[in-house]
Amino acid sequence: MPNIREEYDVVVVGAGHAGCEAALAAARMGLETIIFTVSVESIAMMPCNPNIGGSSKGHLVREIDALGGEMGKNIDATFIQSKMLNASKGPAVHSLRAQADKSDYSRRMRNVLENTEHLHIRQAEVSEIIVNDGKIGGVKTVSGAEYIAKAVVLCTGVYLKARCIYGDVSYHTGPNGLQAANHLTQSLIDNGIEVRRFKTGTPARVDKRSVDFSKMTEQFGDKRIVPFSFETDPESIQKDQVAAGLHILMKRHTRLLWIILTVHLFIQEISTEQAQDTVHQLRIRL
Ligand SMILES: Cc1cc2nc3c(=O)[nH]c(=O)nc-3n(C[C@H](O)[C@H](O)[C@H](O)COP(=O)(O)OP(=O)(O)OC[C@H]3O[C@@H](n4cnc5c(N)ncnc54)[C@H](O)[C@@H]3O)c2cc1C
Repeated sequence: MPNIREEYDVVVVGAGHAGCEAALAAARMGLETIIFTVSVESIAMMPCNPNIGGSSKGHLVREIDALGGEMGKNIDATFIQSKMLNASKGPAVHSLRAQADKSDYSRRMRNVLENTEHLHIRQAEVSEIIVNDGKIGGVKTVSGAEYIAKAVVLCTGVYLKARCIYGDVSYHTGPNGLQAANHLTQSLIDNGIEVRRFKTGTPARVDKRSVDFSKMTEQFGDKRIVPFSFETDPESIQKDQVAAGLHILMKRHTRLLWIILTVHLFIQEISTEQAQDTVHQLRIRL
């Protein structure tokens, strides 16, 4: 017998942007929902450039908002700069992008989750999906606990067997030094789910005191800020914004060298075909 056995309507694995929305949607419909995260510190964490929106993603966030989602409201409450991209082009390609105070963004979303009825948060690594006669039955955690559910939503983001690559150093970890989820992948493969590895890139973290902002071009937010959420009163979010500094950090050939090193490390785990594809994509972007 497992040490813990609980029953829910919905299990959501992951508390990033996707998992938060999935769990809130289920709980707000009155379904008993449990959301798992390897660390509560990673709830709605922004491991990369801390912004919401931009081309395509801005539209997506607003569509989620129209369905009652939280991301739009969360960024309206925590942004430090907001800009409508492509404003000089036609309205179909206008795209809202807001830079967040990443700590505030994560803290506020966690607060919303913690105060939503029918929603339970659990810090634990899910290691297996339970499948009975081809039908999902719940999940198991590394510690052997079982959570039985009618539906399981996987929103595992960038954590499954994650690796971080810094220059020519590569090691197994989740983003920001958080624990990776190393067990679930095998259970998915055993159940016939195809998995493949993706690579992403992030800006270097620099100490603000080491930056000479006088050598950069200031980039300001919009004078009249447009909210992400249709429910946010536009007047309530007109505030002073933080300017960004634009600077070309690396010469073209330095950047190329960095990309080659990264790809070199990356291809150790992917097929030749995938590697060729990646190199081809990078060449197009250079
Ligand atoms: C270095 C870096 C650079 C990035 N650059 C970009 C970028 O430029 N543009 C972009 O759009 N995105 C970028 N991303 C991706 C960014 O993380 C995603 O856009 C966004 O965070 C995805 O949200 P998500 O909800 O899918 O997953 P994530 O934010 O990754 O959240 C996953 C959640 O799942 C949980 N989890 C995973 N497995 C388990 C398990 N087995 N058991 C329990 N909990 C589990 C984690 O604890 C976490 O809460 C980058 C990510 C990293 C790490």
